[in-house]
Amino acid sequence: MVTEILDCSEASLLKAAELIKSGEVVGIPTETVYGLAANAFDETAVRKIFEAKGRPADNPLIVHISDFGMVREIASEIPNLAYKLAERFWPGPMTMIMPKSEKIPLVTSGGLDTVGIRFPSHPAARRLIELCGLPLAAPSANLSGSPSPTTARRVFDDMNGRIPAIIDGGESLVGVESTVICFEGSGVRILRPGGITREMLSEVCDVSVDRGVTNRLEDGAVARSPGMKYRHYAPKADLKLIRGSLKAYKSYVSENAADGSWCLVFDKSEAVGCLPYLCYGASPEEQAHELFEALRKLDELGAKTVFARCPDDSGIGLAVYNRILRASGFCIIDLE
Ligand code: AMP
Ligand code: MG
Repeated sequence: MVTEILDCSEASLLKAAELIKSGEVVGIPTETVYGLAANAFDETAVRKIFEAKGRPADNPLIVHISDFGMVREIASEIPNLAYKLAERFWPGPMTMIMPKSEKIPLVTSGGLDTVGIRFPSHPAARRLIELCGLPLAAPSANLSGSPSPTTARRVFDDMNGRIPAIIDGGESLVGVESTVICFEGSGVRILRPGGITREMLSEVCDVSVDRGVTNRLEDGAVARSPGMKYRHYAPKADLKLIRGSLKAYKSYVSENAADGSWCLVFDKSEAVGCLPYLCYGASPEEQAHELFEALRKLDELGAKTVFARCPDDSGIGLAVYNRILRASGFCIIDLE
């Protein structure tokens, strides 16, 4: 199979919609990261997503919609708070977990009786869903375990020959996956941090952050969000996350660097001696935008060990911290 790259024109979106309606999988742009989309109601089509990614069958897919009315087809029960949150944050990078309707096959929900639902803001994603007239199941468009793709080219790197087409909608604006929340008491619990931050949600309701966001799942524990238990976002290099002042970072790296060592820093003023480095941005927003691309570049550059500066965990920084912590396999070196 040759994977075709399509632009965002109406004709291309119509072509992609025809592919999806006939049971195929298409790479699509969203404001978070690129996704691999198929008809969420079609078991056979959804199985093709799991196959293309090499994704474990118990890791559920998020179902994408293009208007709130579609929620009624997908969820069997809609909490009152969901209306309020949707009004405030949809379309946008927030996924709400609700009890699933019978129309959603267990393949889509990874065997769970709940389903994650999201209304993306990317115009091409919205238009495509409208043209399909169907909710689209779509996980990130990377091979399972790799950093999520934020450009069509990175989707092509992972999916060439595995899917018929990719829509090129430019760079993903946010750069990390959606915030996943479930309803609990009078508020919500964040299962995966993302572009809609804890601080933003707190303006609407009570918010708690699941322990799994910043901690390794203990052996035998059941993940509230199955994605938590898998190795994720991992580059081939051995990534060490260094928490502490710039001074402490520099002296630690100077002492421990060897052949094939790279630094992943916020900006170029933080370079350590003559060691090669990449920057992933000074603000949490830039870091979210750049992190996955930086991890992929480090692999291309043949990095063996990466010493990364630890991001601040406020705002969207919590999402950046969550992803880089997982990319490091929870290898955090505390110099504070
Ligand atoms: P991805 O599609 O790669 O962004 O991954 C989706 C992630 O959302 C999964 O790995 C889960 O952690 C989470 N998720 C999706 N649906 C559910 C659900 N029904 N319950 C809990 N977490 C979910
Ligand atoms: Mg993913």
